[in-house]
Amino acid sequence: MCGIVAYVGNREALPLILKGLKRLEYRGYDSSGVALLEDAKLNIYKKKGKVSDLEHELAGKNLTATIGIGHTRWATHGEPNDVNAHPHFSNNRRLSIIHNGIIENYASIKQNLIKKGHVFLSDTDTEVLIHFIEDIHLATAGSLESAVKLALKEVVGAYAIVVMSVDHPGQLIAARKGSPLVIGVGEDEFFFASDATPIIEYTKDVVYLDDYEVAIIKDGKLSIQNLDNTETIPYIQKLEMELETIEKGGYDHFMIKEIFEQSRSIGDSMRGRLRSEDAHLQLGGLNNYLDKLAEADRIIIVGCGTSWHAGLVAEYLFEELARVNVEVEYASEFRYRNPVISEKDIVIAISQSGETADTLAAIELAKSKGATIFGVCNVVGSSIARATHAGAYTHAGPEIGVASTKAFTAQVTVLTLIAIAMAKRKGTITEETYRQLLIELEHIPEKVAKVFENASKIKEIAFIFTYARNFIYLGRGLNFPVALEGALKLKEISYIHAEGYPAAEMKHGPIALIDEDMPVVFLATRDSSYEKIVSNIQEVKARKGRVIAIVTEGDKLIPGMVDFVIEVPQTHEMLTPLVSVIPLQLLSYYIAVMRGRNVDQPRNLAKSVTVE
Ligand code: GLU
Repeated sequence: MCGIVAYVGNREALPLILKGLKRLEYRGYDSSGVALLEDAKLNIYKKKGKVSDLEHELAGKNLTATIGIGHTRWATHGEPNDVNAHPHFSNNRRLSIIHNGIIENYASIKQNLIKKGHVFLSDTDTEVLIHFIEDIHLATAGSLESAVKLALKEVVGAYAIVVMSVDHPGQLIAARKGSPLVIGVGEDEFFFASDATPIIEYTKDVVYLDDYEVAIIKDGKLSIQNLDNTETIPYIQKLEMELETIEKGGYDHFMIKEIFEQSRSIGDSMRGRLRSEDAHLQLGGLNNYLDKLAEADRIIIVGCGTSWHAGLVAEYLFEELARVNVEVEYASEFRYRNPVISEKDIVIAISQSGETADTLAAIELAKSKGATIFGVCNVVGSSIARATHAGAYTHAGPEIGVASTKAFTAQVTVLTLIAIAMAKRKGTITEETYRQLLIELEHIPEKVAKVFENASKIKEIAFIFTYARNFIYLGRGLNFPVALEGALKLKEISYIHAEGYPAAEMKHGPIALIDEDMPVVFLATRDSSYEKIVSNIQEVKARKGRVIAIVTEGDKLIPGMVDFVIEVPQTHEMLTPLVSVIPLQLLSYYIAVMRGRNVDQPRNLAKSVTVE
């Protein structure tokens, strides 16, 4: 979850590391710290809170080191405080470490080390690892990198680490298993980071470290070895990301920038894949797998959080269009069951970051049973993208706001394309429906832009409900997962309790909650369940609930029944979620801002959930 930045070269390390940590703060932000190596001294500075708190603490200090490591933490072991913040020292304080992940067997290693006289200052698993490395280093008298490798062979869990030693100036040792790590290769300088954002303004040449690989910067050179000392030639790739895409560009928050970007990003998800004029639809990454898709007995979709909601939307799409049996699973539950999977199953793993630990584990499980695995990820080169047989990137561009918005619509767009391609191959949709869907898809970006014209109205509604304590979101069919997503968005960033339900299910329990204080958001677009949802609205109004309805432009009936309406343009029913989710994102955003929440970095959350 956390963010790692390390640097060695000729620049001053501290400002570069702090800037990089701020870019990575979406990954974890309960505390942060840096270790700098200067004048043969290894100093650590760390602080509970945001990276800006650390920055204030260090302002005015003359810290000019050209080698250092930095970390912004998402605590797993030990509460967020100054002591548990990273970096951590080894026992003799000659080594320091930053770590993203969990060392699962830390307790037994710690006990052994305590018996040997080690004294631990923090509650973290990470501190145990650096003590362990020191212990092995002193006992074997080999190189530091050998000690790191030996220690990592004993470790159970997930890690991306960088180790720095006072005895080896100019040297950094990094390794990964299960947590991402990118190496930037500049001229006489090297960078390590959890993703490429801290690196892009210095170099576009990067190497993605693989699991069980160790990267060693020594004497100004990079070498990559596995834990058994076999050397591999670093594969340098060119970053395609541009700096502007990771900056706020005049918006107050990344989240609102990313919401508004959707009129473009949805188009980016389709670019080069879809052309309605000659009925062209092609997903490069899936080309060789279309037969396999068409023959699949079943599609199992795995994901977590918002990605799971995108999976639920896809369930309707695949069943309706491609007439295939679909199951949508929480990756965390799926991996710990003994699911029945065969070679004829296709598993689609959805993850914005491509690093979600539970989803990765679900992929490994399904792979071991012979299923074909497709990935739908946003981050290029991510672990899930590499662990799957094939896949399609969502191309939404970097998503920095912790609550997912444009990544969701990008996932839904790509899954829609896959469903249509599969339906076409299977012959389960008519040529006319096929063409109609392609045309409608091409119009989605402008329809999303149309929803933005309602932003000030949505803001007014948000103002009225700023201090609501609860919310219910109801929808049917494809709008049911949208209701779940709307409720999740509100919970995540405003901390208001919100529940999403299939509208008809309301009668089986949640209706008891309805009174004049309960805001109920209805997804009531004009589609095949319109009449049914109108009845559900009446049921809520009869109990004095306060209804905000998302309706199709020109709806004459619902505005007369409810308290507030927000219009969205008409589209093909199968594509409704792409427009109906937009007002819900805006509503959550404005409510959260009015409540004074930190919308980009809501409490307790992190963007890339690399722990299970
Ligand atoms: N497990 C470590 C800790 O709790 C690292 C957590 C992280 O990835 O930020 O300190």
